[in-house]
Amino acid sequence: MSKPKILLLGPPGAGKGTQSSKIAETYGVDHVTTGDALRANKDMETDHGTPREYMDAGELVPDPVVNEIVRAALEEADGFVLDGYPRNRSQAAYLDDITDLDLVALLEVPREELVDRLTGRRVCADCGANFHVEFEPPAEEGVCDVCGGELYQRDDDDEETVRERLSVFDENTRPVVEHFDEQGELVRIDGEGSPDEVWADLEAAIDAAIEG
Ligand code: AMP
Repeated sequence: MSKPKILLLGPPGAGKGTQSSKIAETYGVDHVTTGDALRANKDMETDHGTPREYMDAGELVPDPVVNEIVRAALEEADGFVLDGYPRNRSQAAYLDDITDLDLVALLEVPREELVDRLTGRRVCADCGANFHVEFEPPAEEGVCDVCGGELYQRDDDDEETVRERLSVFDENTRPVVEHFDEQGELVRIDGEGSPDEVWADLEAAIDAAIEG
């Protein structure tokens, strides 16, 4: 049987990164995430300028740049979990053209909870593990529990940029949620609980989709 193709939707801070890693590990699929791919290429010159110009303002990087990253990654993948894409209707139409999905899951979390999660988030510069200054502090401040790397705050996790990113989600990405909802493909997952609680619901939804 071929490996599952899963799309994980949700606002910034909903836990897509954490849950995607679990999906990748459990089902042996690639984790394709446009945010990480763009962060690794922030100063790459494109016909539309560098990704940094958009990312540091909390805005979307132009579609041609992002579509090409996703096309190349999905072409190579044997099963995948896609996270951070599509973020607008035009990206959703592009995705429809290049692949068939087994499941579209939406992680739902109230807005103020998202602001708290994102502004307190700290990320390991070496292994990418996520922590939170209040909800999940590392044993030693500023040091990754997993690999000993240095923790940093993402440039776009300051409160002003976080609020801008959440409005960009409401304006551009809500229509994507509606797009998949209209196609009857969307499963809603309560993203407010602990990572393990969310995972239990998500894993059940994936198993139902691949068995059905
Ligand atoms: P994320 O790590 O998913 O929160 O993404 C961080 C930033 O990368 C976003 O605020 C955008 O500037 C950019 N980005 C990530 N994915 C996309 C996408 N699908 N379309 C456009 N911009 C994106």
